[in-house]
Amino acid sequence: MSKYAVIGNPIDHSLSPMIHAQFAKQVGLSITYEKILSPINEFSSSVERFIKSGGLGFNITVPFKINAYELTNDCTLNAKAAGAVNTIKVENNTLIGENTDGIGLVNDLCNNLNQSLKDKEILIIGAGGATQGILKPLLDCGPEKILLANRTKDKSIKLAHKFSKYGKVCGFGLDQIKAKPVDIVINATSASIAGKMPELANGVAEGAICYDLMYGIETPFMKWAYKNSALKVSDGLGMLVEQAASSFAFWHGKTPQTRPVINLLREKDD
Ligand code: NAP
Repeated sequence: MSKYAVIGNPIDHSLSPMIHAQFAKQVGLSITYEKILSPINEFSSSVERFIKSGGLGFNITVPFKINAYELTNDCTLNAKAAGAVNTIKVENNTLIGENTDGIGLVNDLCNNLNQSLKDKEILIIGAGGATQGILKPLLDCGPEKILLANRTKDKSIKLAHKFSKYGKVCGFGLDQIKAKPVDIVINATSASIAGKMPELANGVAEGAICYDLMYGIETPFMKWAYKNSALKVSDGLGMLVEQAASSFAFWHGKTPQTRPVINLLREKDD
């Protein structure tokens, strides 16, 4: 059986083995997909062990996406732009990196939530690893502009500068967000993990699609969005399944159906 895995720390919570098992069943592939907890300073030896044991590909989650990028021998354009990878394919001892986070978000917004991103004004909150991964795929959809706001202002300014070759993106501090509605607000901070809400001007959510990358609970950001008249509110479960589907296609050359898996995970949550 071909061998795959997800490597992270912590890793217990990961839904990836379940998602990949569903995809493999759909397309009739025989694979194993395990969770690997890597000690924080031992990512490269964890990868080496997995490959020696016959591993053909793996996903990478927090906090190793940048370490993984540095380990690759070759990368897709997407991964190069992000400077981080969440998917690696092993071919003749060569590690090929991809970042499917952004494609996953775009597919969820466009295909599952029926939103066009063309000519839209998008506000992203947060300038960490997830934002690095989603910026290029979002800019590739031709939004009017992306506003990038972060608690630590310097980080959003630097990131906006780095990605400005792909489209119109400007970076500033959280406290500089205007209380003026935008089309889409994406919470790409890790505040939800701590049960916190980034401090945002209320007016931006009115009539907007509000999307939290976090999944599994109704986050403070989602509650804030409902209270402030958002048009639609979503968590990041669809993105999780969509990014997994893109990783699956990257490894196996077969694109699985995501809708039944999203429905299954939502039922499991109820
Ligand atoms: P990260 O690299 O640690 O970055 C965290 C970001 O959140 C930073 O910009 C930080 O601002 C900001 N932040 C943290 N607490 C905040 C607060 N209380 N108020 C305002 N800003 C705050 O994390 P990441 O890897 O980008 O992950 C971000 C989120 O995306 C996580 O919830 C993760 O689970 C989620 N995610 C979901 C998927 C999916 O498939 N659905 C995929 C990837 C990531 P400073 O720079 O000022 O510290």
